Amino acid sequence: MSRRPEDITLLVVTKTYPAEDVRLLAELGVTDVAENRDQEAKQKAADTADLPLTWHFVGQLQRNKARSVARYADVVHSVDRARLVAPLSAAAEAVDRDLSVLLQVNLDDAVDTGRGGAAVADLMELAAEVAAADRLDLRGVMAVAPRTGDPGAAFARLASVSEEIVESYPGATWISAGMSGDLEAAITNGATHLRIGSAILGHRPSTG
Ligand SMILES: *Cc1c(COP(=O)(O)O)cnc(C)c1O
Repeated sequence: MSRRPEDITLLVVTKTYPAEDVRLLAELGVTDVAENRDQEAKQKAADTADLPLTWHFVGQLQRNKARSVARYADVVHSVDRARLVAPLSAAAEAVDRDLSVLLQVNLDDAVDTGRGGAAVADLMELAAEVAAADRLDLRGVMAVAPRTGDPGAAFARLASVSEEIVESYPGATWISAGMSGDLEAAITNGATHLRIGSAILGHRPSTG
């Protein structure tokens, strides 16, 4: 698949790195940053509130974090169950914002990976819930490649899931896929948003 660079957005995953690094990235022209933990993201977004950044929340979302995430995140990549939809939309309403939402897809057929993601079979129903929510804009799908196996095959599956979603929701064209270790496979398979941490910022301590 031939891809045009302008069709791909680079998200720099800044988890474990300080707000000063976010500032530096912005000076270098980075427009989109991503975090996976609310506590850390909230503080960093506040510390860099003067910068024109788009904030992406890519970690597992808990219902009790919806209020917090809705205050600083522009895009939430990790909506993977219907129970998150109402709290997230209400939280966005409370701060008079609209949130872009991606449905996180579990591409691993292993039972529960602990990494989040809706089963492919449940996606259309989840898409309908998000599309119907007042303050949420369904923008597409997101996935993390399974720990084992060919990431290309996994991302090809994500691309076909995306096609199906787009048939019903023409505006939901985003495919958030690809991390430092598998970004080429993601690009080949239609990723529109890459989530890159260590390849840009360096190796994180293992707690990250
Ligand atoms: C940490 C993280 C990334 C970035 O991973 P790298 O391997 O450092 O590029 C991407 N997506 C999610 C959901 C993450 O938690």
